[in-house]
Amino acid sequence: MSTVVLNGRELSQTLLEEQKEQVAELVRKKGRPPGLAVVLVGQDPASETYVRNKRAACKKVGIHAPDINLDPDVSREKLLGLIDDLNRDPAIDGILVQLPLPAGLDKDAVLFRIDPSKDVDGFHPVNVGKMVIGLDTLTPCTPTGILTLLDRNGVSISGKHAVVLGRSLIVGKPMALLLLSRDATVTVCHSRTARLQEETRRADIVVAAMGKPRMVNADYIKPGAVVIDVGISRGEDGKLVGDVDYPSVFPLASAITPVPGGVGPMTIATLLDNTIRAFCFREGLPLQPPRKHT
Ligand code: NDP
Repeated sequence: MSTVVLNGRELSQTLLEEQKEQVAELVRKKGRPPGLAVVLVGQDPASETYVRNKRAACKKVGIHAPDINLDPDVSREKLLGLIDDLNRDPAIDGILVQLPLPAGLDKDAVLFRIDPSKDVDGFHPVNVGKMVIGLDTLTPCTPTGILTLLDRNGVSISGKHAVVLGRSLIVGKPMALLLLSRDATVTVCHSRTARLQEETRRADIVVAAMGKPRMVNADYIKPGAVVIDVGISRGEDGKLVGDVDYPSVFPLASAITPVPGGVGPMTIATLLDNTIRAFCFREGLPLQPPRKHT
């Protein structure tokens, strides 16, 4: 059986090209580009890298993305005041506060202060609720990007048995809901799941989002399964490593994402897409294409 490599790096470049054209069209229509405020608090090296990549991608497609960098000891009042200013700023359509925040700052207080219509991470309870109900809304970037990766590679979801490893609010739970909305039969596993391998071996689609390097090996996979690796950890050699043991799983899978170059780049492309969607929503333009959630 030949295995399809789901190349997120390549697809994300295609998406960025498409977004560049969309942004140019929006500027012609409305006289301004979409705006995304990426807020970085402190100097966490990994966060600095993520933020730099997000801002660079915005620049590439013409999205207005001012640098907003705050000291690690910024007060809660000052940070919430900044969010209020961004909520009111007509040039800003999306607000992203890079996580994790320095100790002492209440993540939920900050995230829940963001105007839901500008919540391009899709973490605000209003957007989570809309996703659960089945309304077209801003949905979390990583699981939404995974659906795009599957769709653009012609991997069908409807009727498939999907097993999601992980139940975080950022990846696992929204992934399960979005797969359900696309008519998959979904099992969600976590650290207390008994007989994990029995669950995954029944899956047509496995999404691994645990942060456990190379844990998912050939023993977890049914021949022909589609394997999506969300995990990002640093190996002892400093290289990035996923949750999937790629060499042993590759020969079994019908399709698989590499790490790096799979899910990661799709997350950034989806952030830009969410910013464009937020712009359209705020400017009264139709959302293209609508996202179906049942
Ligand atoms: P969290 O730590 O918030 O959640 C991890 C989840 O995995 C939890 O639900 C946990 O279960 C579950 N888990 C942990 N160990 C096991 C185990 N042995 N068996 C089964 N389930 C287990 O992580 P995130 O969801 O934020 O991220 C997961 C991974 O994805 C990380 O490596 C992260 O770096 C990466 N990531 C990658 C992104 C990308 O763009 N590629 C974006 C976001 C994250 P329990 O709830 O019981 O504790």
